[in-house]
Amino acid sequence: MQTHVYHITYSPEVETAYLFFWGCNMHCRGCIRLLHGWDSHLPDPGQPKTEIQPRLLAMDEVLNVLAPHPIRRIFFLGDDPSVDPVLEPLAQALKDRFRAEHVLLTNGLLLPPYRLFDEIQVSIKAVTPELHRDFTGVDVAPALDHFRHLYEAGIRLRSESIVIPGYIDAVEIERVAKFIASVDPDIPYRLDAYIPVPGTPWRRPTRDEMTEAMAAARRHLRHVHMLHARTSQRHQVVRLV
Ligand code: SF4
Repeated sequence: MQTHVYHITYSPEVETAYLFFWGCNMHCRGCIRLLHGWDSHLPDPGQPKTEIQPRLLAMDEVLNVLAPHPIRRIFFLGDDPSVDPVLEPLAQALKDRFRAEHVLLTNGLLLPPYRLFDEIQVSIKAVTPELHRDFTGVDVAPALDHFRHLYEAGIRLRSESIVIPGYIDAVEIERVAKFIASVDPDIPYRLDAYIPVPGTPWRRPTRDEMTEAMAAARRHLRHVHMLHARTSQRHQVVRLV
């Protein structure tokens, strides 16, 4: 059975595997994957996604690649794992084999097979419908409905947004925070600084702009933190595929 997994990395220090899926149902103008097609935490992440011809792995291959390694946690990420039609049987097979904690990173546009995940991290690009459509090319309503649905299903949720000066800035971040707080003000919320993607008009936010966005989010949520650069947030990883 062919999956959408095309790249796998592993951190021995924390016994964690990272499965990278190919394919997304949003078309974000500032997609970080346009800069890094491989795990950006590798010493040399190399090519942007546009230069990669992915080889999609069979489910058995994913299991065999991971088999020699002790695994306590598996991250499902990349583009959006939820678009993989075999995500559910893959997650089930991995659960049966490794009994590891499963963490899914998604944009929330599709409702994932959430019972197979211990934690789901939803990236909320914006909540203002016009802004969300302008940035992603799709409507925001399904993603927000699914976020609430996942919470009501008892899934451990986290959320994150990208701060883009003059576009998705403190004003919009506060709106996102208000939405998350309407679900539960204890849901953790992370703000990432935008990393300029060629062909887009936006610059990286300053630390003051990130602090302003964080203060706006903290008016509604109890657990807000920020990343000003996507650096050294993970333990060292090695490439398995
Ligand atoms: S949802 Fe994520 S992976 Fe998909 S286009 Fe947007 S930023 Fe890229």
